[in-house]
Amino acid sequence: MKTSILAVGTELLFGQTVNTNAAYLSEKLNLMGFDVMYHFVVGDNPARLKEKLADAFTDTDLVILTGGLGPTQDDLTKEMVAEYMGVEMHLDERVVDDLNAIFAKRGGNMPENNMKQAYLPDGCTPFYNASGTAPGFALEKDGKVAICLPGPPREMKWLFENGVRDYLEKFMEKKMVYRVIRTIGIGESDLEMLLMPLIDGQTDPTIATYAKEGECTLRVASQRDSEEEASAAVDEMTERVRKLAGEYIYSLENEELNEVVVRILKEKGLTIASSESCTGGLFAAAITDVAGASDVISSSYVTYSNESKIKELGVPAETIERFGVVSKETAEAMAAGTKKRSGADIAVSITGFAGPESDPGHEAGEAYIGYAVGDIKGHIEIHTSRNFRTWNRRYFTLRMLRAVYMLIR
Ligand code: AMP
Ligand code: MG
Repeated sequence: MKTSILAVGTELLFGQTVNTNAAYLSEKLNLMGFDVMYHFVVGDNPARLKEKLADAFTDTDLVILTGGLGPTQDDLTKEMVAEYMGVEMHLDERVVDDLNAIFAKRGGNMPENNMKQAYLPDGCTPFYNASGTAPGFALEKDGKVAICLPGPPREMKWLFENGVRDYLEKFMEKKMVYRVIRTIGIGESDLEMLLMPLIDGQTDPTIATYAKEGECTLRVASQRDSEEEASAAVDEMTERVRKLAGEYIYSLENEELNEVVVRILKEKGLTIASSESCTGGLFAAAITDVAGASDVISSSYVTYSNESKIKELGVPAETIERFGVVSKETAEAMAAGTKKRSGADIAVSITGFAGPESDPGHEAGEAYIGYAVGDIKGHIEIHTSRNFRTWNRRYFTLRMLRAVYMLIR
């Protein structure tokens, strides 16, 4: 079923509130096999709201509206939808009871304008709201369906899961299954080229690539008559993707790289320690972000100054003097010192220039990752050619995670 999402609220147009409702609904609806074709956003303006509703119904049969169901004068979504569909409103006794109960519990009388929320369009399917005051509803006419949901994301989600989902069952023609595959170490266009034999002329399953910060995500999706069929088609295509791009894939289950690293360390019973200069602890933060990290991380050092690299890690002063603090030699010495002092199985280090400044003869975005595992030691040289501090620091962290991943996978 062709579907639009129409978010109502002037705050969305001001950029004060991010339209997370559309993202949430899109994800859920696509999975249920609805073709989400448009997102519209309109302010709290009755004429424009009706106009966009008409636009949405021109191309699509299901329109889900969020926002504008509040008790105040500028909340007009319900009224405009009823008007567009040509029906009157009636007082719903159950909503009146619900509202009275809510306000009694809060220890006060219901403000008069809240009574507005108890009116629903004639002939609608109500979605009573146990998580707030505004009920939602679905209204059908001539094969078109409008569903109105409140704006607060918590309430919107609650109603979607407790009412809308069951209601939509009767419109579901196809089932969609998709898998998100995460890759690192290859750019989006190279990945697309690599997968071109699969992407070219695709109809179902579809393959789409998305570049994320420093990594690339693939989505393999299939819409079939049954979930089993769609699932089998996705699995078969995933296998073909794996044959072509396996070396870059780190997760077939949409996991984050830090989660994968911690999982593998745990599975292999390995411990890790880190020493960080330019990332200031972001690597340790990424590892400890994962529940159960205490099984795998022993220590992490933030050694920003030369002195602390010498004192905390035992990096020879001579190494820093001779090769510079941002050098592969220093990075390797940091890793060696980290491994020795922590007693961990794996040590990883980083030294670099996050920017925007760097020392003469160097550039922002230059960094060296050192590692030490058993008798293996080595380094990775990075040049991002960017001088955005935040971006570089995040990218460096990702590269540290990748370095560890490559060592342990
Ligand atoms: P409303 O139902 O229009 O009174 O919306 C109440 C609150 O929900 C607003 O103040 C926003 O913070 C939030 N909200 C409304 N629409 C959206 C949306 N599309 N995405 C995320 N939050 C929203
Ligand atoms: Mg609003």
